[in-house]
Amino acid sequence: MKETKYIFVTGGVASSLGKGIIASSIGKLLQARGYKVTIQKFDPYINIDPGTLNPYEHGECYVTVDGHEADLDLGHYERFLGIQTTKANNLTTGRIYKSVIDKERRGDYLGRTIQVIPHITDEIKRNVMLLGNKYNFDFVITEIGGTVGDIESLPYLESIRQLKWELGKNALCVHLTYVPYLAAAGELKTKPTQHSVKELQSAGVQPDILVLRTEHELGLSIRKKVALFCNVDEHSVVQSIDAPTIYEVPLLMQEQGLDATILKKMGLAVGGIPELGPWRKFLERLHKAEKTKPIHIALVGKYDLQDAYKSIREALSQAGTYNDRKVEVDFVNSEKLTEANVEEALKDKAGILIGPGFGERGICGKFIALTYARTHDVPTFGICLGMQCMAIEFARNVLEYADANSREMDEKTPHNVIDIMEEQKSITNMGGTMRLGAYECVLQKGSKAYQAYGTEHIQERHRHRYEFNNLYKAEYEAAGMKCIGINPESDLVEVVEIPTLKWYIGTQFHPEYSSTVLNPHPLFVSFVKAAIENEEATR
Ligand code: GLN
Repeated sequence: MKETKYIFVTGGVASSLGKGIIASSIGKLLQARGYKVTIQKFDPYINIDPGTLNPYEHGECYVTVDGHEADLDLGHYERFLGIQTTKANNLTTGRIYKSVIDKERRGDYLGRTIQVIPHITDEIKRNVMLLGNKYNFDFVITEIGGTVGDIESLPYLESIRQLKWELGKNALCVHLTYVPYLAAAGELKTKPTQHSVKELQSAGVQPDILVLRTEHELGLSIRKKVALFCNVDEHSVVQSIDAPTIYEVPLLMQEQGLDATILKKMGLAVGGIPELGPWRKFLERLHKAEKTKPIHIALVGKYDLQDAYKSIREALSQAGTYNDRKVEVDFVNSEKLTEANVEEALKDKAGILIGPGFGERGICGKFIALTYARTHDVPTFGICLGMQCMAIEFARNVLEYADANSREMDEKTPHNVIDIMEEQKSITNMGGTMRLGAYECVLQKGSKAYQAYGTEHIQERHRHRYEFNNLYKAEYEAAGMKCIGINPESDLVEVVEIPTLKWYIGTQFHPEYSSTVLNPHPLFVSFVKAAIENEEATR
């Protein structure tokens, strides 16, 4: 049987250096050499999963096909590698402890004292190896969240130490640090890197490869110095310089032979350098698109933070590239939208996207934006809560149910056009109250959504508690909002569309999660195309 190789990616000096991008780039390069690769993220926080976390804490909550609410780095893994991740690709300290405590309660430990070492570390190690053992991967890359030196990271570092000892050549540690540039001294400083590596070494882990994040080119002398002070070979010190796009990073790593170094260190034949043809073509197209006049898409939501709508922003930008236009996403804070300022806020937008979300805050602004969008026939895309708002706005202003609402916002209104539906229970396999993960949907032939997908049967990922209320379906359809996407098992409405408008589509699911670099999402591509045509028509 072939042996799975394990690569650990740790980070030091500061957070937000882009460990996820480095892990994804390594994965991409190994995949391009024909290896079967997966990436997983271990987060040292105590929450069981990020599902209950406010987006301000860790950015968007990503959803896997099997219905796991996951760290947003899994989105990078999927977008770079074109693979699907699962619950097993994302772990937290909370889940590790929970599983150990559950075993303890069951009596599995036969009366022994349960300790961080070996019980927690064994559980971490078991989970590191799980995917490799089960699915015959050539490489399992494990990204450790947080920064070396955090108290929470220690059990993970101890597990890496043990695994490196046990697996020998089959385990390797890539450590990402930061080399700051002191403008006043005109110098790049390696001291933080040295300290960070010392911290790692004091946990018993010697990094095999160092990736240095930098805003300035690192000369040979700096790399030599880092190599000498940190016990790594010179060619194992790689720079990761600021790039115009994160999708450039695999190529920058390949130029420095990072994948070849990994293969050599793990005792594998290096062979020729893969061409990465489709990837390079995508980048060429992206760079060309970046030079065009941007089209402006409004992203109406309440979280004024780049990472809160990460997958939507990526999906829009990819759709822009495949339409050969630069997409500029303008965040419009729905809490600040009023009837008096909506015109000003949206008048020069080629398209409007109403974002997902939870709770009542900012909801009024979404209705105001939607009335504007619908009556001015601006291409509009409603995602999850955005789709629900489309339905409510339509009920209030076209069906003339002034009090129409979602049960999430108002328990008592007689017109809950978005509600908790009995049918949901029959198809929710998680036992929870939310519909999570991939569900089937059948699209009506002839609809714009069908044209975009080019097929009737689709599967998309969900994350919501409330549903379109089927009691009102006939009224909606008669008034012009068509329910063109239906879950075949439950009859729940998954997609609505106003066919008489240029592009007015709402999806109960989240298409953004499945848009990848080499396979952009058809709905996003179609939406951006409509926005471009709208701009051309109104110019
Ligand atoms: N809050 C809404 C629901 O639970 C929508 C959720 C979302 O946008 N992801 O149904």
